[in-house]
Amino acid sequence: MRFDLSDKKAIVSGSTAGIGYAIAKGLAKCGAHVLINGRDEHRVDEAIVQMRKEIPGARVDGLAADLSRLEGIEKMKSFWPEADILVNNLGIYEPRNFFEIDDDEWERFFQTNVMTAVRLTRHYAKGMVDRGWGRVTFNASVTGGFFPGEMVHYGATKAALLGLSRGVAESVAGTGVTVNAFIPGPTKTEKTKAHIMNMAEQVGKPLHQFEKEMFQQQLPSSLIQRFCTSEEVANLVVFLSSNEAGAITGAALHVDGGIIRSIL
Ligand code: NAD
Repeated sequence: MRFDLSDKKAIVSGSTAGIGYAIAKGLAKCGAHVLINGRDEHRVDEAIVQMRKEIPGARVDGLAADLSRLEGIEKMKSFWPEADILVNNLGIYEPRNFFEIDDDEWERFFQTNVMTAVRLTRHYAKGMVDRGWGRVTFNASVTGGFFPGEMVHYGATKAALLGLSRGVAESVAGTGVTVNAFIPGPTKTEKTKAHIMNMAEQVGKPLHQFEKEMFQQQLPSSLIQRFCTSEEVANLVVFLSSNEAGAITGAALHVDGGIIRSIL
């Protein structure tokens, strides 16, 4: 199946690198006019150059804006007042002992991971409803119930996004706008790769062996016994953003290598 998004405008929050960049690239490949975003002007420019190199003729704009702040949201709204596809991808994470996470840190995680998505969706989904077509997705994570004790603050924000996604889907029922969450498992991005390489180096093991043992010992429920790639996650999001996925809404779809042991 080939998806034609050539008449669509798509925003992907937090997309100069990692899963966000792969999603933006996947949408651009299908012809969408894509807005990529990060905080740093230079990295935004680099990502645009990279995308035009990877997809000759890609229609891509860039916006440097910190979306965890109201000013950043306003900047995006005035730069691109409308979009047909909104991918709420932005999310920060770092392992931390629950007892060491203070209120400011909880606030930072909720502002960045949840309120950014609330604010963008409130604005862009309204226009989609008025025009009678739209696609909104939220990047949740298996960490909604994962790494207990180390990622409680992160997991709580991701659980909130699942509720937000279903709630917004209900709010736009019958309008032609679909709203879904996608749930990636451990995914190899530039950042996670650097982290794993660092851990492998510390114990003096080659990367491939360290990864293999990590999945065997710490992530035994993974059915693929490897990281997902950013492109594999992006493939699902591109599908959910297409006309062809018009009957899928209010759902939360896993792209996690089967790591959550469930038949649903
Ligand atoms: P990443 O850290 O590699 O990418 C971060 C991107 O977000 C960059 O473009 C950066 O510039 C941008 N960014 C960071 N803070 C920003 C801000 N305040 N305003 C605007 N842009 C900002 O991230 P990733 O690993 O690709 O993760 C992306 C999403 O996927 C997150 O929501 C994360 O929770 C989710 N996720 C990741 C994994 C994984 O294993 N990598 C697994 C499940 C879910």
